[in-house]
Amino acid sequence: MNVFRNIRERMNRFMVGRYGTDALNRGLLILWVVFLIIAFITGSLWLYIPQLILCLIIFWRMLSRNIVRRQRENHGYYELMKKIGTSWRRAMVRLRDRKTANFFRCPRCRADIRMPKQIGSFRIRCPKCGEEFNKTFR
Ligand SMILES: [Zn+2]
Repeated sequence: MNVFRNIRERMNRFMVGRYGTDALNRGLLILWVVFLIIAFITGSLWLYIPQLILCLIIFWRMLSRNIVRRQRENHGYYELMKKIGTSWRRAMVRLRDRKTANFFRCPRCRADIRMPKQIGSFRIRCPKCGEEFNKTFR
């Protein structure tokens, strides 16, 4: 047990002032596993190249001493995941309500607008910016 404690203390000393791991590294690790599974299924050796690159990036980020830069990258990753999540939820709502609602965007502010499904020409007022425009549904 003393040996393990010794190794852990050495590891802790080695990691002092280094970045460690974060959400971006976990995301990269998941991507690495996806590549691993695809490489295993297809038997393609070419997929080991991106795997190796991902592995190097993960370790490089973990051992990096430029903590501010790594935190900025992680923040960018959070923002990207938030955008993907929003787009995904929006697409799921559109899919769910496709038979009962019309979806379109305001030509001025690009806001998503939804109205009950009807056929014909309508004068629409954007609830966000107040722009009025014509829209035809068939
Ligand atoms: Zn608008």
